[in-house]
Amino acid sequence: MTSVRDELAFLRDMGFTHLDLSVLSPQSSVLSPRTEDRGPRTDSDDWTGLRDLALACTQCRLAKTRTQVVYGVGNPHAELMFIGEAPGKDEDLKGEPFVGRAGQLLTDIIKAMKLTRDDVYIANVVKCRPPENRNPEPEELDACRPYIRRQVEIIQPKVIVTLGKFALQSLTEKSYGITATRGQWLEYNGVKVMPTYHPAYLLRTPSAKKDVWADMKKVMAELESSTD
Ligand code: URA
Repeated sequence: MTSVRDELAFLRDMGFTHLDLSVLSPQSSVLSPRTEDRGPRTDSDDWTGLRDLALACTQCRLAKTRTQVVYGVGNPHAELMFIGEAPGKDEDLKGEPFVGRAGQLLTDIIKAMKLTRDDVYIANVVKCRPPENRNPEPEELDACRPYIRRQVEIIQPKVIVTLGKFALQSLTEKSYGITATRGQWLEYNGVKVMPTYHPAYLLRTPSAKKDVWADMKKVMAELESSTD
């Protein structure tokens, strides 16, 4: 459970210097006081509050050019989380991550694991589309990092699959190379992390699909072995 102090610290880390309470919905919990009749704060309250903040975020320049904030999709109690880089054109229009060509490939990978998009949680380290699909800039990654980290904290997945270099490096804030780490278990805040290639890379390099499948087999084995 998160205290008001933790929530204020989170907002400070996000770079907020003042509080605009109008961005928060009446049910939002990130700052609203708890009253006896509402009962204790829950993860679902924290989730709503975080989402409200993200949807109203103007912490970096991408806020000016985005159509929509792409917060994330799937099961907020998922055991498995996929983390990508940033929304592209299709995702910016739809407000959902991984819905374009690379997204279709990710959906196929998830299906091959005998799961659906509703079983897992899918999000990006950057929530707004970089213009012309350029790489995210360091300031954009820094501004957005608290959102993905808080999503991980609330979801508490058993396994995170990072898709490509930006996802891995930004989540962990370490300069891991994708070639050296792909397929090797890493750890982020006590959660097992499996770095693999980004589906957009697989569209350009289909021969690498077998490597990703080998990585997903390790993920499936880990999830099975950790079933309570
Ligand atoms: N690539 C990503 O990294 N994320 C998306 O949501 C879509 C494409």
